[in-house]
Amino acid sequence: MQKVKNIRCECPCGKTKFYLKKPPFVRFYCHCEICQKLYNSAYNDVVVIKSKNVVLKQNGVQFNKYRRPPALDRGICEQCKKPVAGFFRSIPGLGLAFINADNIQDKSLLTPPLGHIFYHRKKEYIGDELPKFKGYWRSQIKVCHWIMIKLLIS
Ligand SMILES: [Zn+2]
Ligand SMILES: [Zn+2]
Repeated sequence: MQKVKNIRCECPCGKTKFYLKKPPFVRFYCHCEICQKLYNSAYNDVVVIKSKNVVLKQNGVQFNKYRRPPALDRGICEQCKKPVAGFFRSIPGLGLAFINADNIQDKSLLTPPLGHIFYHRKKEYIGDELPKFKGYWRSQIKVCHWIMIKLLIS
């Protein structure tokens, strides 16, 4: 992969700016109710990166913890109230960040999505070729699986 320097990101209103030191290594579409509510859309285009590669100043960002799925600290911009980045810290030694791909300014730097999860919650039928996973646990396990495989081969 090409060496990319500091991928620029911002929240929808542009007030909260941050950057990534590396390209995210997993990308998928999430159809869960939390994403639908937070993003006010049928599904969310999500990228995953190690949290140590996310450079985000905490001022101007509020952190709200939603009980599921999973225990994610979701950073919300104080101005537009939209998600900035979510941090998952439940696995010791492996901090992960989940970011809405729309917050990344140059989406051409992203890898293609691997599939759709929480598809049983879909509000829109998706006609693409990507695999679709239904069910809470199957969706959770699939994301863990994608992350573990990419971490092992990287
Ligand atoms: Zn904002
Ligand atoms: Zn979701």
